[in-house]
Amino acid sequence: MKYAENILGTIGDTPLVKMNKLVEDLPCLVLAKYETFNPGNSVKDRMGLKMIEDAEADGRLKPGGTIIEGTSGNTGMGLALAAIVKGYKLICVLSDKQSQEKMDILKAVGAEVHVCPTDVAPDDPRSYYSTSKRLSTEIPNSWYVNQYDNPSNCKAHYESTGPEIWDQTEGKITHFVVGVGTGGTISGVGTYLKQQNPNIKVWGIDTYGSVFKKYHETGIFDENEIYSYVTEGIGEDILPQNVRFEVIDGFTKVTDRDAAVYTRRLAKEEGMFLGNSAGAAIKGLRQIHEEHGFTKDDVVVILYHDHGSRYVGKFYNDNWMKEKGYLKEDGSYYPDEK
Ligand code: PMP
Repeated sequence: MKYAENILGTIGDTPLVKMNKLVEDLPCLVLAKYETFNPGNSVKDRMGLKMIEDAEADGRLKPGGTIIEGTSGNTGMGLALAAIVKGYKLICVLSDKQSQEKMDILKAVGAEVHVCPTDVAPDDPRSYYSTSKRLSTEIPNSWYVNQYDNPSNCKAHYESTGPEIWDQTEGKITHFVVGVGTGGTISGVGTYLKQQNPNIKVWGIDTYGSVFKKYHETGIFDENEIYSYVTEGIGEDILPQNVRFEVIDGFTKVTDRDAAVYTRRLAKEEGMFLGNSAGAAIKGLRQIHEEHGFTKDDVVVILYHDHGSRYVGKFYNDNWMKEKGYLKEDGSYYPDEK
């Protein structure tokens, strides 16, 4: 008989799937690392488990302990699955702009959810950053995960996602393209791939309203780059320690509208029902081609982080798309806007 000992045994070994219609005008082979096959429907199951295992190994997390993290979605789910199997309590601290649906999903997998106001500065005691930290000092036998600066996040991808991509492409990969939030995925995969072949190019997808691209190009943390945006999962107003800028060859920024439109096109034209950062990533890949030109010998791997089900009330909802000005009454999209 062939079975996993528990749900954690099904994390990783996700498929690589050829992209067709959305890249038919590109000369290269584009392969999608399809992370929604993980049990929590996102790549974050990998790092959720790894962060917990590493904290157990060095005693930061002890039997019967409480895990605390400021997360709204995928990381919370990844941590929740590992916490259930391993017998820990999980507290997720969310901001009040998160949908009820997201809170309910976390509760469904056993997490305790604390809600904090969105419109306060990160160092305000009411913010979700401050609340997470405070809870971890108040609650005995608790551990604050901090996915932004926790090196196990990056390590999970160095040890699993990167080697899988190398093996699945039989070492033929030439470019890796992926959205960047905490930086764990791009840094872990990018470091591993460049150790195998330093000629592999690693591209990060950023969003307008985030600091990454400018910082990578100039070394300047420019606060003028920071403003609110619609795109979910990528971009930051901070520089997480998990973003290793030295393994990243370049960033391209994708507009909210383009990310939204391409999220829907992935579903309708490729049958790939994915989250919003996937739409940003495939549009970004096309921009990289326009600016730098892939060739027929290139093997480009793009990583899709999460599943479309979390976004049915937004990007997959016609009324929401019309309110945002992304979709016309006749069902066509407004032209790309930079
Ligand atoms: N896409 C989605 C949907 C995410 O949840 C995240 C994590 N914030 C990312 C992309 C970015 O991944 P990473 O944090 O590893 O940079």
